[in-house]
Amino acid sequence: MLRRKKPVEPVRIRLKKNDMVEVISGKWQGRTGKVLKVIRDQNKLLVEKVNLIKRHTRPSPTTGQGGIVEKEAPLPVSKVKLICPKCAAATRFRMTKTAEGKKARVCLKCKELIDG
Ligand SMILES: [Zn+2]
Repeated sequence: MLRRKKPVEPVRIRLKKNDMVEVISGKWQGRTGKVLKVIRDQNKLLVEKVNLIKRHTRPSPTTGQGGIVEKEAPLPVSKVKLICPKCAAATRFRMTKTAEGKKARVCLKCKELIDG
């Protein structure tokens, strides 16, 4: 039976701004950086100094000098892994509830809470 590929559905992104992530595939594999922005409707995120693209800009009052600027391009969420701040490794994590009833992420490697 032939199956049509479904359109990309938004996944639940459990990464947040300021998380440290490691790129696990593609040209930027192995690079680490801080999440600058999560673009939920595209399942993508901006990671500091990763997936840089060159943009040519003209001098303008808002940007000041023109020229070539490097800018982060959105990276698919599936290409990055969260780096656990406790064990400093790219890990998998799951959601849990703390004693106070708050949602938190827990590292599957060191079993420590990622969100303090
Ligand atoms: Zn850990």
